[in-house]
Amino acid sequence: MLKKLIGIDLGGTTVKFAILTEEGEVQQKWSIETDIQEAGKNIVPNIIESINHRLELYGLSADAFIGIGMGSPGTVDREKGTVIGAFNLNWSTLQPVKELIEAGTGIPFYIDNDANVAALGERWKGAGENGADVVFVTLGTGVGGGIIADGNLIHGKVGAAGEIGHIIVDSEGYLCTCENQGCLETVASATGVVRLARDFSEKFSGESELKWLIDDGQEVTAKTVFEQAKRGDKLALIVVDKFYYYLGLACGNIGNILNPETIVIGGGVSAAGDMLLKGVEEYFLKYAFPTVKTSTKLKLAQLGNDAGVIGAASLVKQSSKN
Ligand SMILES: [Zn+2]
Repeated sequence: MLKKLIGIDLGGTTVKFAILTEEGEVQQKWSIETDIQEAGKNIVPNIIESINHRLELYGLSADAFIGIGMGSPGTVDREKGTVIGAFNLNWSTLQPVKELIEAGTGIPFYIDNDANVAALGERWKGAGENGADVVFVTLGTGVGGGIIADGNLIHGKVGAAGEIGHIIVDSEGYLCTCENQGCLETVASATGVVRLARDFSEKFSGESELKWLIDDGQEVTAKTVFEQAKRGDKLALIVVDKFYYYLGLACGNIGNILNPETIVIGGGVSAAGDMLLKGVEEYFLKYAFPTVKTSTKLKLAQLGNDAGVIGAASLVKQSSKN
């Protein structure tokens, strides 16, 4: 019988699950709420219960699966299968996730950081087209990412590789949560785009609906800024051009170091779509090394919310073959 995979995307509000074929086709999907009460002590037991319940429902036994893969926030020890410092789960102490899930389900378990796992997902079944060299940049509340080089996820000495959000794009720029100045995250995250809009709005004296919205104290999001730019709002066009410059500069540098086949751009901010891709590409082509320009492509992410579960499942394939 063909064996299957389970992918889990553990987040602060929901835990997403999927059962997939070995080829990465999603067969079943479901989710549960993440219970972060009492230092998140119910999270792992709830995951175990949900998996066992579903397997019973579908008439599947543990030996029908090669393994379970999971993407988790916080600091992940891949060898030991533990997580610590996942503050959106209230996990401040060490959680023996692998040990508990393997004991509770009887299925081998693999884990990695959530940004890396999403990168694996887009690489395997999304815009990365299963290439050996793919970089994923996700523009959400923060800016995260993952690097696959020569077919392997890059972790670095202590797992801090692929911190794309902290590439410095303006050494005199805004203060970042990491205490450096001018990290990509300070200008290319959802809040970063709004910060740029507010700053440029102060200096802008022409006619602009975006400026009017800001001055009127209305809620302005990254989406508002891109929508206004689409409509030709003069201030919004200045703001998005600055955003394209920063992200294009970062992508140029990523390209110059890694020369991936694809740099995949995902996350909420990337919903701005083709307009964003074209804008970033212009600056990418300006800063990329000549041979990188012609061989590294920028693409929009394709899997949306499914990148996490699909990438988590691919973790099983990556790890179980080693
Ligand atoms: Zn930073």
